[in-house]
Amino acid sequence: MGRVENVRVVLVGVQESGNVGMTARAMKNFGLRELYLVAPEADPLAEEARKFAVGAKDVLESAGIVDTLDEALADVHFVAATTARARYGYPGRILTPREAAPRLRGRAEAGERVALVFGRERSGLTNEELDRAHYVIRIPTAPDFKSLNLAQAVLILAYELFLAEPKRTEQPRPAAVGELEGFFADLEGYLLEIGFTDEKRLPHAMRRFRRIFHKAELTPGELAMLRGLVRQGRWAIERGRS
Ligand code: SAH
Repeated sequence: MGRVENVRVVLVGVQESGNVGMTARAMKNFGLRELYLVAPEADPLAEEARKFAVGAKDVLESAGIVDTLDEALADVHFVAATTARARYGYPGRILTPREAAPRLRGRAEAGERVALVFGRERSGLTNEELDRAHYVIRIPTAPDFKSLNLAQAVLILAYELFLAEPKRTEQPRPAAVGELEGFFADLEGYLLEIGFTDEKRLPHAMRRFRRIFHKAELTPGELAMLRGLVRQGRWAIERGRS
């Protein structure tokens, strides 16, 4: 099984206890153990959740519960988020599970922490949540009914990951998401400060910058350099003012 246990499943705002139980079961069937629930609306330990988890109650009971997606991803190196929608504000290509799995598996085997992020039953993930992803994955479906049951979507991803031949990455380990998000927060303030864009267009600009930097898979050293650049830019502006 290798190190597929380095792959974390994150459910954002899950609404049905049964889906939490079925997710735990699907995970354990394919060697995944680490479940995080971000601001769950459903009780993960409800009778219904336990019933659907069957022999995977251990996965259910050890699930981490956090308030924000950033907390669930802070120590993760590589994020793949899922969407039923074929189109939204995302500027990159959307991968199928089969395309993404060998690369995700390769990263997990290299000891990187990988997260698979799933959305709410009724509304999926917001664009802001999808913006945290290095890859966005969509399960191909019949065109007139694209939305799968949440736990069944988890099952398909877990299965593809289980079968995938790991594709080893040449890239060194990227900085953790917590570090990267710190840089994005700095960059956002800086873009406004230098008049690169205005408040209204900022989300669009940030979406494109995020895409560039996610593709670059920045190492901690590269990230430190970029943060230095922003800091120095701010210092130069301050100096110009005084
Ligand atoms: N109406 C919602 C559907 C949410 S389904 C929407 O428009 O997105 C709940 C979750 O299951 C999604 O957020 C996603 O994580 C997963 N999911 C459902 N169908 C999927 C598909 N075709 N591909 C990838 N993930 C899917």
